[in-house]
Amino acid sequence: MQSLWDERVASNCKSHLELRVYSSRLLGRDPSLVLHGGGNTSVKVREVNLMGEEEEILYIKGSGWDLATIEAPGFAPVRLAPMLQLAHLESLSDPQMVNELKTRVTRASAPTPSVETILHALLPHRYVDHTHADAVVTMSNTADGPKRIRELYGDKVVIIPYIMPGFALAREVARLFQEQANADTIGMVLLNHGIFSFGDNARESYERMIKLVDMAERYLAAEGAWELSETPFTGEPVPQRQEIVQLRQQLSRKAGKPMILHVTGSARGLEFARRYDVQKVAQRGPITPDHVIRTKAIPMIGRDLDHYEKGYRDYFIAHEPSSSEHKTMLDPAPRVILDHDLGLCCAGASVSDAAIVHDIYQHTIVAIQRAERLGGWKPLPARELFEVEYWDLEQAKLKKGGTPPIFQGEVVLITGAASGIGKACVASFLARGAAVVALDLNPEITQLQSSANYLGIPCDLHSSEAVTQALECGVRRFGGIDMLLLNAGIFAASTPVAKLSDEEWRRVMAINLDANLALLRESYPLLKCAPNRGRVVIMGSKNVPAPGPGAAAYSASKAALTQLMRVLAIEWGKDGIRLNALHPNAVFDTGIWTEEILQARAQHYGLTVAQYKSNNLLGVEISSHDVAELAAALCSPLFAKTTAAQIPVDGGNERVV
Ligand code: ZN
Repeated sequence: MQSLWDERVASNCKSHLELRVYSSRLLGRDPSLVLHGGGNTSVKVREVNLMGEEEEILYIKGSGWDLATIEAPGFAPVRLAPMLQLAHLESLSDPQMVNELKTRVTRASAPTPSVETILHALLPHRYVDHTHADAVVTMSNTADGPKRIRELYGDKVVIIPYIMPGFALAREVARLFQEQANADTIGMVLLNHGIFSFGDNARESYERMIKLVDMAERYLAAEGAWELSETPFTGEPVPQRQEIVQLRQQLSRKAGKPMILHVTGSARGLEFARRYDVQKVAQRGPITPDHVIRTKAIPMIGRDLDHYEKGYRDYFIAHEPSSSEHKTMLDPAPRVILDHDLGLCCAGASVSDAAIVHDIYQHTIVAIQRAERLGGWKPLPARELFEVEYWDLEQAKLKKGGTPPIFQGEVVLITGAASGIGKACVASFLARGAAVVALDLNPEITQLQSSANYLGIPCDLHSSEAVTQALECGVRRFGGIDMLLLNAGIFAASTPVAKLSDEEWRRVMAINLDANLALLRESYPLLKCAPNRGRVVIMGSKNVPAPGPGAAAYSASKAALTQLMRVLAIEWGKDGIRLNALHPNAVFDTGIWTEEILQARAQHYGLTVAQYKSNNLLGVEISSHDVAELAAALCSPLFAKTTAAQIPVDGGNERVV
C-alpha cells in the first residue's frame, strides 16, 4: 500500500478542515481501506464563537457521508469540552448519547456526528483517521489474530478487544490507551473491527495509516496469504434466466417486496461458491460489524430459502432487535447467495443496495480466502456484531425519508429505446425507480443513460437469438423482467395498397408484429414470475381506431398487434399479467419529424405549424414525454385492475371519439 499524498494539492488547502477533507478522500479512494460509508475521520481545531470566546471544536465525519466523496459540510462541528466530560460518566445509553451529540454541534444544519465521536474526542491528537482496512481485519479475524497483530506492531499500536461502537467502547479505549500508549504509539487496532491512526498534522496521520496497513499487507504476503490466484471461468455460459427469475420470485416473497437480484458472473465468486467447504467457511460471520446488516452476515448456500430462513432466525431473532424499525430490516431474504451454478448472486431492495452487497462480498471472499491460509477464518459470531452501525444506516434512512419510488426493485424492458417515445419511456421509468433494460438497433443505446439502474443492449429484434440473449443479459443483471414496453416499430413511406409490394408489407409486419409476438412469447415465463405481477404496454397508434390512406401495412400491423394484446389478456389473465395499449397520435418530437416535413404537412392542410401540431379537440401538443408518463402510469398500481384497455393519447380526435 502506497501513500497517495500530493503535496501540491495539499498546499492549496487553506485550513485544517480543508486538509481533513483532502486526506479523508485519499482514504476513501481505496476500497481496501473503506467501503461504502465505512470508516471515519476527525480533526480538532480552535475557533472563536460570536461572543468572542475561543472554544475547541471536533470536526467529525457525519452520518450518511462517504469518505470518498466527503465535503466540508459532511463534518459535524462538535464542542470538544462536553464530549470529554461525558467520558467520565459511568454509563450512557445510545439514545442519550445521540441526544448529547446532536445538541453539542455548533451548526444547526450539521449531519449527526459519528457514533465514534466520543472515542475521537478522547484521543489526544489533532488528526484521527479510522478505516476498516482489509489486511488488518483479515489478520484479526484468524485463530491467532490478536497474537499476530501484537507481534507485528509491538508498541506502535494499542490493541482493543472487540466492543460494539458506542459509549462503552469509548470508555474502554480511554482506559486501555492510558495503560498501553507510549511515545512510539501511532495507532490503535480494534480487533475484528478496524484500525486507527493519529498525528499532529493531516499528512502524518494519513501516512501512519498507510504505513500500518502496509505492514499488515506485507505480513500476509510473507505468510503466503496475500496473492490469490483467480481461476478464469472457461465453461460456456448456460442460459439460466428461468432459474434466476424463480429464485428472485421466492426471494421477493420472503422480503415482502420486489427485490433486485444481480447474478454477478464473478469468477472469484463462482470459484468460492464451488469450494468443497463453502458451507463451513462462509457461514462463520462477516468481516466487520458494518457489513452485518447489509449482507445479512451469513450468505445462503444454494437455493433453499426455507432452510436459510431457519438458520437466519437462529442467528438473529434470539438477539431480540432493539426497535421495530430495526425489525423491518430483518426481512428473512438473504442478500448474498452462493450457488454452485449461478456463483455469487447479490440481492437488494434497489440496484444500488445490491451493488453495495456485491462490493462488500467480493472483499469478504478475498478476506476469507486469505485468512484460511493464515490459520483459519475466525470472525466474531454475527450475533455479537449485530447492533453495530445500525446507527449509520438508521441515519441514512432518516436522511432519505419518504416512501421508496413506485417501481423500486422492479425491472422494465423497453424496445426501440434509443429515440422518440422509447427514449422518453426510459426516462419516465427510471424516474420511478425501475431498473431499465433498453433495447435498440442503434449501438448508442449502451450510452444513453449513466444510471446504475440502466442497461442498454444493442439488439436486432428480427433475430430470435439476439432477443434471447438480451433477455438473458437483463435477467442476469437485475433478476427478472416485470414490465414489457413494446415500442419498437417502423412507419413506412405513404403508399396506396394498389402499389404496395409484398416485400414492403412483410418488412413492416416483420418488425411491428412478428418481432413483438416472439418477444412476448419469450418473455411470458419471466413475466409470470414478476413479484408484483407482469405488465405489458404495447404502443399502438391512432391508426388502429381511425386509419388513414396510404398506411395500409402500418395500420394493419398495429391493429393486429392490438388484437394480439387482447387475446393475450385473455390467455394470461390467470397469471395476473395485464396488457394494455396506448394509441398516440401526432407526436412530433420524435426525430422523424424535421422542421421541413412539419412545414410541408401544415401547408398541405392550410395550417401554420403550431396549428398543425395542436390540431385536436383540446388544442394541445402531444409530446413523447406525455406518452411515456401514461405508459408508466399504466404499469403502476393505479391501473392494477385494468387489462386489455386501449387508451388514446391524441388530445381528442373526432374520428376516434
Ligand atoms: Zn468503524
